[in-house]
Amino acid sequence: MSHILTVNAGSSSLKYALYRAKAEPVVLAQGKVGRIGGAAQLTPAGGPARDLPPGTDHAGALAAVLAELSESHPDAQVTVVGHRVVHGGPDYAAPVELTPKVIAQLEGFAPYAPLHQPHNLAGVRAAMAAFPQARQIACFDTAFHRGHPFVNDTFALPRRFYDKGVRRYGFHGLSYDYIAGEVARRAPALSRVVVAHLGNGASMCALRDGRSVASTMGFSALDGLPMGTRCGQLDPGVVLYLMQQEGMDADQISDLLYTESGLKGMSGLSNDMRELQASDDPRAVEALDYFVFRIRRELGAMAAVLGGIDGLVFCGGIGENSAPVRARVCAGMDWLGIAVSDTANDANAPVISTGPVQVMVIPTNEEIVIARAAVALADA
Ligand code: AMP
Repeated sequence: MSHILTVNAGSSSLKYALYRAKAEPVVLAQGKVGRIGGAAQLTPAGGPARDLPPGTDHAGALAAVLAELSESHPDAQVTVVGHRVVHGGPDYAAPVELTPKVIAQLEGFAPYAPLHQPHNLAGVRAAMAAFPQARQIACFDTAFHRGHPFVNDTFALPRRFYDKGVRRYGFHGLSYDYIAGEVARRAPALSRVVVAHLGNGASMCALRDGRSVASTMGFSALDGLPMGTRCGQLDPGVVLYLMQQEGMDADQISDLLYTESGLKGMSGLSNDMRELQASDDPRAVEALDYFVFRIRRELGAMAAVLGGIDGLVFCGGIGENSAPVRARVCAGMDWLGIAVSDTANDANAPVISTGPVQVMVIPTNEEIVIARAAVALADA
């Protein structure tokens, strides 16, 4: 019996899941290593957290995961390891098997996603060392958006930058891929659907018949909605100001935009939505107001791109759990056909709408998308 391991390596975390390889993979175990590089901890789903040696790196984190899995599933035979890789560049529209040539190419995309791609590839290297016999596959956050029309892919810069790869890629593609599949299964009649993936990273995607036609994220994972610590849409003139007037260099600006902005920067309190919702600090209130305002604005823009909407889906930690955010996003949107039931919304029910637009709350599952791709690869 063969098994699939999925690895989602971020800057300071590594999420994993073990599946039995079947036409529809069956999850056997999952969990997360957090605070890699610091006070690392392994937390299997449903189990207590266990401290790892301080300073544990990605290879050490994966070794701890394997030790955990060999105890809980001693008979597992991992034949495919599926990796979440944030950037697949302009061409990869589907998962790809990782060969030295492909890895070198993906390393070349690191300048497009400097805070994600190197960590993803560190996870790949650690898994290759741990499973030299297994096939390794990369699933890209950008791939789902590769069918975008040119007008959604381009910036109004001289054409040579587009040709070099300076484009609007879009991210969270594994999540949108999963949601598109769920919408097709649960409500196949819906054609024009907007998905709001609201987590610590946040973006929105317009789907037409299950395919992405627009995304709020662009060249990097900074654009669009404000996020936990990322700024979202920003006038490039602000970056010029930071350089020219504040004397900030590229690393300082990168730190500011990726890790010190968004809900955390605006509130001065936290990037955690639960803390902001519980606070009456005026800056926390303003941060929440801005978050909701931007989602509503993008919702209107996506409805315009689609020529109206039939469905709206909330997912991600905030989208799946925060009834107040969903209620505020949907309030006064009856002009678009959106109305929700307070009772259903408060219960995080799968369908919360009372109007013609079907409003759904769907827990996303990026891991299963990777596992399905691994099965498809093994079958091919
Ligand atoms: P994710 O990145 O998808 O794991 O989502 C993380 C975000 O979801 C954080 O901002 C959390 O505060 C938020 N979140 C998780 N549970 C809840 C909840 N019950 N209510 C509001 N926000 C939540």
